Amino acid sequence: MKKYLILLLAVAFTASMLFMGISCTEEVSPPEEVIKEKEEALPTENEIETNATEATPTETIEKEVEATTTPEEKPPQETEETPETTTTEEETPSTPTVPLKVHFIDVGQGDSTLIQTPEGKTILIDGGSKSSGPSLVSYLKSNDISKINIVIATHPHEDHIGGLISVLNNFTVDNIIDSGVSHTTKTYENYLTTIQSKNINFVNWSAGQSFDIGNNISIKILGPTSKSSDLNNSSIIILLSYNNSKFLFTGDAESEEETKIVSSGAVLKTNVLKVGHHGSSSSSYTNFLNSVSPTIAIITCGANNSYGHPHDTTLENLTNIGATIYRTDLTGTIIIESDGYNINVITGNPYTYVKAAAEETPQAEEPAVTETTEQQPSQTGDYAGSINSDVFHNPNCRYAKKILPENMTWFVSKEDAISKGYRACKVCKP
Ligand SMILES: [Zn+2]
Ligand SMILES: [Zn+2]
Repeated sequence: MKKYLILLLAVAFTASMLFMGISCTEEVSPPEEVIKEKEEALPTENEIETNATEATPTETIEKEVEATTTPEEKPPQETEETPETTTTEEETPSTPTVPLKVHFIDVGQGDSTLIQTPEGKTILIDGGSKSSGPSLVSYLKSNDISKINIVIATHPHEDHIGGLISVLNNFTVDNIIDSGVSHTTKTYENYLTTIQSKNINFVNWSAGQSFDIGNNISIKILGPTSKSSDLNNSSIIILLSYNNSKFLFTGDAESEEETKIVSSGAVLKTNVLKVGHHGSSSSSYTNFLNSVSPTIAIITCGANNSYGHPHDTTLENLTNIGATIYRTDLTGTIIIESDGYNINVITGNPYTYVKAAAEETPQAEEPAVTETTEQQPSQTGDYAGSINSDVFHNPNCRYAKKILPENMTWFVSKEDAISKGYRACKVCKP
């Protein structure tokens, strides 16, 4: 418990501290605040210990951070001069010969994206699962990376933070942007313990906040806009902008969070979308895809994964909006470059979705069939589910209607469904 208190307080104390060479800006104002050395502003061991006894243990990291946005004891040092790593909006966009590089790394069933800026700053979004940690470390080393400026952990599921533990142990990591949502697993505990032992700076953030990375490159946190009880829907949503080029990373956000983001008005047209939740049909809703309208859609999932990712519904939705689809399960790591205006896929081949006719569809969480019939199998309960899924629905839910008659199973009550290991559909909310 004590170590978590220390961690919480560390987060609180470093809440308003920003990292070297990277400034945080509000949406409209140009970057002004630049923090020099994070070491200067870090509280001492004693300060953390002393204050830990005064903290409320049940408060979340997020609350702690919000409560202490302006620490009084050691205010961050501001400077008038603009460091060479920070540019202002007034400056003419430079066109460096080195492009921005975004690597959608093949970590099997999981997510890990490396961003390299023209001036050599590195950002890593998620680290895949624990088992893919060593190969991720090798990949980063093969790209001459020794230090990572910012690690972003979208949410605490194992296929996103498991491999980060190897990363934190092998590279100097300056800052971490964490969802602030906890999980009960050993992996999550190891992840937190590693951050604590390395004394990595937790960055305070809120939805709508932008971080200037330099070279007209910024990362903006679009979500989560509000709390969710679901871990996937607590995923940090990141918009990477480089002049006119925009990349959107949605972690494992599903329709619940996609809907919130769309209604917040935060999502604008994006060139490249890292498709939510490995191409699951629980994500990539049409109104969200229409808002984002990506020309390139990247699906990160493992070859022949047991979830049936990506689901046909997702592939069909992406095809319908005219996106070119790339899949790590089929072509391995996908590398995209941008000079701020043009986007080029360097590694990876596009995938063309062809609607299956009589072909057998993979066993998916929400089995997608090519045709929905009005004819329903004989109903023997108030709630419907598929024998190939663990989700139950109202019989009139569009997903219930897609369940093949031979796969249909009925439940007399919600309790009946739950007792059989099923969970409520997030769309029809039975
Ligand atoms: Zn995931
Ligand atoms: Zn997840």
